[in-house]
Amino acid sequence: MIGSMMGRPLLVSALLEHAARWHGKTAVVSQRAPQEGVTFGWEEIDQRARRLAQALIRLGVRPGDRVGTLGWNHHRHLEAYYAIPGIGAICHTLNPRLFPEQLVQILQDAQDVGLLADARHLPLLQTLESLGVRLPWVILMGEPGEACAPALGAWFDYEALLAEENGHFDWPDWPEEQAAGLCFTSGTTGRPKGVVYSHRSTVLHAMSVALPDSLGFSACDSVLPVVPLFHANAWGFPHAAALVGAKLVLPGPWLEGATLYALLEREEVTISAGVPTVWRGLMSFLQAQALKLNHLRLLGVGGAACPPALVRYFEQEQKVPVRPGWGMTETSPVAALMSPKRAQMGLSGEARWRWLEKSGRPPFGVDMRLRDSAGREVARDGKTPGHLEVRGPWICEYYWKEARETERVWFPTGDVATLDEDGFLQITDRVKDLIKSGGEWISSVQVEQAALLHPAVREAAVIGFPDPHWGERPLLIMVLEAGRGVTEEELRQHLAQHVARWSLPDRFLVVDSLPYTATGKVDKVALRRFHGEGSG
Ligand code: ADP
Repeated sequence: MIGSMMGRPLLVSALLEHAARWHGKTAVVSQRAPQEGVTFGWEEIDQRARRLAQALIRLGVRPGDRVGTLGWNHHRHLEAYYAIPGIGAICHTLNPRLFPEQLVQILQDAQDVGLLADARHLPLLQTLESLGVRLPWVILMGEPGEACAPALGAWFDYEALLAEENGHFDWPDWPEEQAAGLCFTSGTTGRPKGVVYSHRSTVLHAMSVALPDSLGFSACDSVLPVVPLFHANAWGFPHAAALVGAKLVLPGPWLEGATLYALLEREEVTISAGVPTVWRGLMSFLQAQALKLNHLRLLGVGGAACPPALVRYFEQEQKVPVRPGWGMTETSPVAALMSPKRAQMGLSGEARWRWLEKSGRPPFGVDMRLRDSAGREVARDGKTPGHLEVRGPWICEYYWKEARETERVWFPTGDVATLDEDGFLQITDRVKDLIKSGGEWISSVQVEQAALLHPAVREAAVIGFPDPHWGERPLLIMVLEAGRGVTEEELRQHLAQHVARWSLPDRFLVVDSLPYTATGKVDKVALRRFHGEGSG
């Protein structure tokens, strides 16, 4: 016997429809120039998305087609986020920070039928064309008058297209398992691979993100995704904001400290999230100007391990709780967040800082296990590392175009981690970044976190270099705080307080800057190429 409840599908368009119907006047603010925002209500965003849906259908977009987007966080991109899956097509977000050659590869792989691109990406579009990309059409998302004809086939001005439609369009129903979004991994450790999200996975992920132990969105919040819309669903912000009817603030491409601070204050942002690099920029600005954040009540940090100095600064100086998390493109991406349980509520001082170095615990909907190289599950003791595997309704089973030979029950993440008795995860490393020294694995993340606790160290990356006796030994590459110096001996003594003796780096190197990937993570492949003597 089946239940007698209605079989309404979980659809992305239903999120927007809900926001429009029940939170229609709640603001969506889009920054169109530094210090200048334009404000819509959710109702207007829904109306505009319906007109975009009509325009896309007129252009010939059909269910199942991939429609690319190449844009920063602004209202037009948000509308595309809803309009494309709303007509049964697949919203394929492209990362403009990737190398053009990678974009060409991804566009060929996805076979997008058209592209919505920021007018400011025109030079990139021209480069793509010179590399052989041919798209049936491009819609330029720009302010009126900003667009000018690109070289890529037929082109349209976004606002002109919308002006031709009347918005009398009902969001159709689709099976909830139907594909809604496509995002390629940023290729940090290899060729980018496509992950296809469904309507169902997107809605369930948004519901999870909104829960109090996750990012805790409510209709009283003003939420700011600093994480780009092209980086794995912007960690669920655009969907979860609509789901609860929160005010949504979109920063455009302006993510440096001063502009971000002005936006956080002006729009009374209560919850925001992004990669550590962005928050380090904001922290430096706030420190230099001796400024206070007056509205923020939760800062999400993900995509890479959260530097301890960042946690301490925001919690101690700004009184803003920091919530590190773990996830990947393949996990939609939010799969673990550092929210306390009753047992952690009383933690203070060093004990609390040590706890906050972990990467989170799984919410309902995400299950995890750690296995050793022989496939045996390892102890949940907070010490024994294992290969992290995950499963759940918003975890990728197989990649775009990958043959689905057998059902994949657990997704192998490629990360090595520990789990403690309370269920808190700690990422040790990506398998490819682990340093294999003799019989031991050295966690580059652990040594980096320890180095970052030294006041002179601003950025740190640890890679292996070949060693005839041990196989590999660690090299610590650092960027120092302006005007600060530190000796190797001092560093060694400092690190010895935090990591095991065999993990202490054999070599130290100070550089002016570290290379970063398109999603704002230290590019270890590039570091190994330059400093690892070919060990990458
Ligand atoms: P890519 O794999 O192309 O860099 P993702 O954004 O999907 O793109 O990156 C996911 C990876 O980022 C994870 O597999 C993990 O290695 C790393 N990562 C994410 N969150 C954390 C964290 N809290 N601590 C350490 N590493 C993290």
